[in-house]
Amino acid sequence: MDDLLFGTRDKRGNWAPNAPLEVAPFWTGNLAKTGRWLVGYVWPHNTIFMAVTLVYWYLVLPDWEVMRTFGWGWILRIHLANSAGIFLLFGSIELIYYVRRRQGTRFKYNHKFPAENPSDVFWFKSQNIDNFLRTFLVSIPIWTAIQCFTLWCFANGFATWLSPQDHWLWLAVLVFLVPAIHEVHFFCGHWLIHQGPLYRWIHSVHHNSINPSPWSSMSMHPVESAFFFSEVMWHLLIPSNPFVAMFQLVSTAYGAVVGHIGFDKLELTDDRAVDSHAYAHYLHHKYFEVNYGGDGVVPLDKWFGTWHDGTREADERMKERFRRKKARMNAAASSRSASL
Ligand SMILES: [Zn+2]
Ligand SMILES: [Zn+2]
Repeated sequence: MDDLLFGTRDKRGNWAPNAPLEVAPFWTGNLAKTGRWLVGYVWPHNTIFMAVTLVYWYLVLPDWEVMRTFGWGWILRIHLANSAGIFLLFGSIELIYYVRRRQGTRFKYNHKFPAENPSDVFWFKSQNIDNFLRTFLVSIPIWTAIQCFTLWCFANGFATWLSPQDHWLWLAVLVFLVPAIHEVHFFCGHWLIHQGPLYRWIHSVHHNSINPSPWSSMSMHPVESAFFFSEVMWHLLIPSNPFVAMFQLVSTAYGAVVGHIGFDKLELTDDRAVDSHAYAHYLHHKYFEVNYGGDGVVPLDKWFGTWHDGTREADERMKERFRRKKARMNAAASSRSASL
């Protein structure tokens, strides 16, 4: 496919889309775009996450009686499923687009591949090895622990388990709101770990990958992983159902790859491609202090002035914000030294 029909490539070879990022149309009054937005909301990402949830529900989770007490058997079974699922999904994207490089750098935001840039910030100087090990040694075990705790709570009646027969409408609304819950939870915690020492201690691990690839998705400090997966806890607080809770967790875990794909479109055939929805989070990795949330289902970035839609105007707004922040910090530092 000719990616220059959809975007531009700079002198270095970095590609950027022509169309600016847009928040969900009901926030901007652009209701004519609602139908198209709805299709993108459901297909393909959330449909895939729902299919994966069904696999967990029918093939992975043991009987509820078993999950009433913690036991290595069922916990390891879930851990194995989590590890295999991530290995398959993230690994295939990595293999197809980063190892075999099936579409070269077409639609690729950063013209370089992480394997071309060895760096001391990574274990074994390799972004791929570092990110892979952190995913399997840190993030997936924490995900399994939180998942098993959530299931144990439902199995023991420590959460409000609504039946789909009696509460189908509320549960359907809740399923539909899962991406919105994710965006709000992620925005709040993500913004927090960008502040001062929290960034240096915790979040800098994830941001070592300035040019992220699929294995970067879950490459996190343990504290960040715990916060990241804790969004499923909302389903212990509000009346819900363990299936919806599992959908939330699957969307969080498997959905982590979305922002780290590095390509704007994944080519399926010579003239068909699927949108990756990766650009907003790619810009976050590039500029750090923009796009703390996601795709703008709940556009907190827009409301708090940190939205970057990829346009030159957004770039200017961001630079102006950084200039003001620097001036504030300089003024604070000089008033501190004057009072000494
Ligand atoms: Zn990221
Ligand atoms: Zn960040």
